[in-house]
Amino acid sequence: MKKVVKFGGSSLANAEQFKKVGAIIRGDKSRKYVVPSAPGKRFSHDTKVTDMLYSCYESAVNGEDFSDQFAQIRERYQEIIEGLNLSFSLEDDFDKICEDFSNGAGQDYAASRGEFLNGKIMAAYLDYEFIDAADAVRFDDDGSFNADETNRLLSETLKNRENAVVPGFYGAKENGEVVTFSRGGSDITGSLVALAIGADLYENWTDVSGFLIADPRIVKHPKSIETITYKELRELSYMGASVLHEDAIFPVRKAGIPINIRNTNAPDDAGTLIVESTCRQPKYTITGIAGTDGFAAVTVEKAMMNSEIGFCRKVLQIFEDNGVSIEHMPSGIDTMSIFVNKDSFEEKEQKILSDINKTVNPDHIELESDLALIAVVGRGMKSTRGTAGRIFSALAHAHINVKMIDQGSSELNIIIGVRHEDFKDAIRALYEIFVLTQI
Ligand code: ASP
Repeated sequence: MKKVVKFGGSSLANAEQFKKVGAIIRGDKSRKYVVPSAPGKRFSHDTKVTDMLYSCYESAVNGEDFSDQFAQIRERYQEIIEGLNLSFSLEDDFDKICEDFSNGAGQDYAASRGEFLNGKIMAAYLDYEFIDAADAVRFDDDGSFNADETNRLLSETLKNRENAVVPGFYGAKENGEVVTFSRGGSDITGSLVALAIGADLYENWTDVSGFLIADPRIVKHPKSIETITYKELRELSYMGASVLHEDAIFPVRKAGIPINIRNTNAPDDAGTLIVESTCRQPKYTITGIAGTDGFAAVTVEKAMMNSEIGFCRKVLQIFEDNGVSIEHMPSGIDTMSIFVNKDSFEEKEQKILSDINKTVNPDHIELESDLALIAVVGRGMKSTRGTAGRIFSALAHAHINVKMIDQGSSELNIIIGVRHEDFKDAIRALYEIFVLTQI
């Protein structure tokens, strides 16, 4: 059994957290390959080392004195080294990084040092080998990620190594220039390492015990999801639930490697297992509820619309030409509604309306803003009668008017549009009916 374990920034924010991580890794011999993030926040108003690096580098580029900022970064690592009683020093690395900052080594290089240095500490602490991700995660000359070459390099590098630490978040072009993934990208590195070594499991350790059925800022102490499929996860993440970087899914999904989200601060919790498919029945009819605020709807009305060939296409083309992405599109016989992100629509609003008027000559266009969309997601809905009925009676009891309903043909989700002011109450009502009362 081989596991890749990735630890997020809050799991490695200080020496105390490092000790918990050490105990987790030593507690299971199959945890052979470790992918660390940079030290994250130690308390809620703290600053992540990655953010400190970005702003320190900006000062360096602007020709400002960045020595104080750099000293604070150095301090964060020094505190960890001392707290772990390591007889190990990063002084040479700090000197080199400082010099590279003065020489304009690049923003990605600057940000990547957070993981690089933390990886070195982790390797010394565990007595594992340190692999610089710049040598094994490859980006092309145009900055795009090269999956095949990365897989080849990582497999080659790790093949004969019993264990290793590979820092997350960055790689390099062939000429050595460092490139980072987008923020939160250490999740991706973990997934790439899991693919390369043919891991049985990719454990992603963070500060929550997996995915929760609903947003804890809206529902008090929501229960966590035991098992979720990739498809369900995609639906929920699209609607705003986020624990894992989206691009971390593809490499392991393709290889059939499950991801287990675990909590460093509650290591006995089973967390959430993400799998391609499962015959494990979810505990409740639904797997999760997620929602996002800030949508607008444009409803175009025209008598006999249904018999006018190409009507919908022409309307959609207008949104495409104006660079506005369409989120949902429920339609009636003589109406079609287009749900869009309110902010991106507002910029182009007048242009889009006049284009619609000119192109399809509608009877009426209605605009509605301040809408929210809520997705009720679950593989269990397919085999259960009355899910939609329960949703609507729960919302009716909570005095919430439903503006839009959209059920995907896979029966994996039902999307409900409500007014902004009803958003949170709607989520609470749905959680209550499916999880708390389970009628
Ligand atoms: N340290 C990076 C960030 O803060 C990458 C990561 O943590 O995954 O985004």
